[in-house]
Amino acid sequence: MVLPNQIALLKNIFKDCVLCPRRCHVDRTQGELGYCRLPAKIMMDCALAHHGEEPPLSGTRGAGTIFFSSCNLGCIYCQNYQISHCTYGQELDSLALARVMLDLEKRGCHNVEPVTPTPQTPLIMEALILAREQGLIIPFVYNCGGYENPQIIKLLDKMVDIYLPDFKYGVAEDGAAFSAVSDYPLYALDSLKEMVHQVGAELEMENEVAKRGVIVRHLVLPGKLENSRTVFRLIKKEISTSVAISLMSQYTPTLKVQNHPLLGRRITASEYQQVLDFALDLGFENLFIQEVSEENLLPDFDRENPFK
Ligand code: SF4
Repeated sequence: MVLPNQIALLKNIFKDCVLCPRRCHVDRTQGELGYCRLPAKIMMDCALAHHGEEPPLSGTRGAGTIFFSSCNLGCIYCQNYQISHCTYGQELDSLALARVMLDLEKRGCHNVEPVTPTPQTPLIMEALILAREQGLIIPFVYNCGGYENPQIIKLLDKMVDIYLPDFKYGVAEDGAAFSAVSDYPLYALDSLKEMVHQVGAELEMENEVAKRGVIVRHLVLPGKLENSRTVFRLIKKEISTSVAISLMSQYTPTLKVQNHPLLGRRITASEYQQVLDFALDLGFENLFIQEVSEENLLPDFDRENPFK
């Protein structure tokens, strides 16, 4: 059961924003802007049935993905930079967003999955409660970048069914170089612990579709194998090897980093295999794995369906 004051507490945080570990302490209700440059409003790019997520999320009818503008991380290589590096989009109120969620359910989607919810969490959760009151029954998936404030994740208890956080960096220096955060592993771990505490480490399934649990995503970056290995070491040491991990191979240099000395190339099949072998050797068994392909897998948010 959702506590009546959970949404009120979340919305109040807009006045002294600590929704993520950047803790900008700006009053977004008065027009002050922090690192994410978002107002205290919902800024949405698009909502669609997404068939490219992990199989238990996409199922046969697609994940109900809602892409939001901006992000609290701003990774220089972001595959979604067209929307995550800017703040414009459709301005919605919570009721309008609830209707978007209900429409995704009506279209047959297996879940509702906001990306990236972190800087807009209070109003997204308010919309979720409104949608639930109007009959929404599909799971709610919190698809975030992993750089979360654990105190905020605590406030999401009983509202989130499936957590889908990235665990981008095990090596803090890589987080500093690519996402301008010096403490990524610390916050990613503490938040993940809280997520597992709320929904469990095992992924609960029904008819091959996820209903509850956690899937951690890790994108292998070119030449950054020690970063990947450290991610697995930390999760094993601090949490469990039974957490489901999605080991992603699709890193593709965007225009912004095509000349970057490290990030300007795809990963090789050998790099991916080395990380996969390391994870298996550590005892991780619940792994979603991908082929390393030559295909351009970057979405294009200028198209109606960015993934076609
Ligand atoms: S959500 Fe935005 S304004 Fe709030 S702390 Fe994070 S980056 Fe700063």
